[in-house]
Amino acid sequence: MIVKVKRTADELEVKQLLEHLESKGFEIHTSFGDSYRVYGVVGDTASFDIRSLYAFPCVENVIRIQEPFKKVNRKIKSEDTIIDVKGIKIGGNNVVVMAGPCSVESLEQVDIIANEVKSMGATILRGGAFKPRTSPYAFQGMGIEGLQILREIGDKYNMPIVSELMDTEHIDAFVKYVDIIQVGARNMQNFALLKELGKLSTPILLKRGFSNTIEEWLMSAEYIMSGGNDNVILCERGIRTFEPYTRNTLDISTIPLVKKLSHLPVVIDPSHAAGKWDLVESLSLASIAGGADGLIIEVHHEPEKAFSDGAQSLKPKKFKELMLKAEAVAKAVGKNI
Ligand code: PEP
Ligand code: MN
Repeated sequence: MIVKVKRTADELEVKQLLEHLESKGFEIHTSFGDSYRVYGVVGDTASFDIRSLYAFPCVENVIRIQEPFKKVNRKIKSEDTIIDVKGIKIGGNNVVVMAGPCSVESLEQVDIIANEVKSMGATILRGGAFKPRTSPYAFQGMGIEGLQILREIGDKYNMPIVSELMDTEHIDAFVKYVDIIQVGARNMQNFALLKELGKLSTPILLKRGFSNTIEEWLMSAEYIMSGGNDNVILCERGIRTFEPYTRNTLDISTIPLVKKLSHLPVVIDPSHAAGKWDLVESLSLASIAGGADGLIIEVHHEPEKAFSDGAQSLKPKKFKELMLKAEAVAKAVGKNI
């Protein structure tokens, strides 16, 4: 529920109100603006009689949050969440571009690609070391060695790194090597994993599952935030529909919808949505125009030889063209890229 306090409220009265709420076992989130002061009250408020709070003279009004997601909810925090990853700000008025190969294949491969994408304006390096593959016979990733490669190259080019974690067993290694932990589409509802990630402070890039509703996705973010980790970045990567021309269907409506429902940043992955490199530019530009806070794009210098997702990986030259257009679109919609 949300408790709005009168502008003229006496500090002592507010303190008594907050102590009262805490004594009921609720957690309080503060949100101040120039003309308002609002407290988000999270916990099992269902059986709590909200009218009782009007006994406190400082209370202007109390509303229940109908949605099942609370900490994620824009009603609790009206301003955009901005996540700082080693000085790079995700959210607010920024468009952050993350780029790199689908899979880490070797030190040389990541070095070549990082050098290219960095020079073209990407600020965060992506790469998968643990790969969720449909076939057990497909390349499964380089594992910890892959994370070490990403770290080394990330440091070389001064780029934070994002990589996918598949199970709780490797959390310590990810905390050690990685700046943003990616939860893949297939793990969006791995609640045991989400609960563990809630105990960290490392930012989490939470992909939407390909058959999950927006509400289910926000509830997964709620799992992480309710555990205490407020650094959640939502990532739309396409959902499964009846359309076979694309690998998935990019649900671009998530951008305005999630922005309305939540204060968390939204990043778009056009590569996994499209499944084809020649669609990636259009989807990227549309996403920026639609208000996305960032993009995560697969780039490979030799896509025909890529160990995974070569068909959807851009060559550096194409990535450069995309970046030039992306800058123009970002500027047109008043965003910094
Ligand atoms: C990836 O980023 O390479 C990946 C496997 O993503 P997703 O979970 O969206 O399929
Ligand atoms: Mn991939």
